[in-house]
Amino acid sequence: MAMPRYEYRCRPCGTTFELDRPMAESSAPAACPDGHQDTVKLLSAVAVGGTAAAPGPSGGGGGGCCGGGCCG
Ligand SMILES: [Zn+2]
Repeated sequence: MAMPRYEYRCRPCGTTFELDRPMAESSAPAACPDGHQDTVKLLSAVAVGGTAAAPGPSGGGGGGCCGGGCCG
């Protein structure tokens, strides 16, 4: 099972690092490789097999749904 990857930034040393951790722990404290605890989670939004359903740029018009599989 692939776990989502989250990106964090360490404020004391300014480095960024990534962690693979369960979604439930996404907001848990993450220490940087240097051991600093003052880190913030970045919104890198790396979806792993998820159904994020982000409304992407799927055309500017409307009515065309063929291609998405909804027209059979
Ligand atoms: Zn650090």
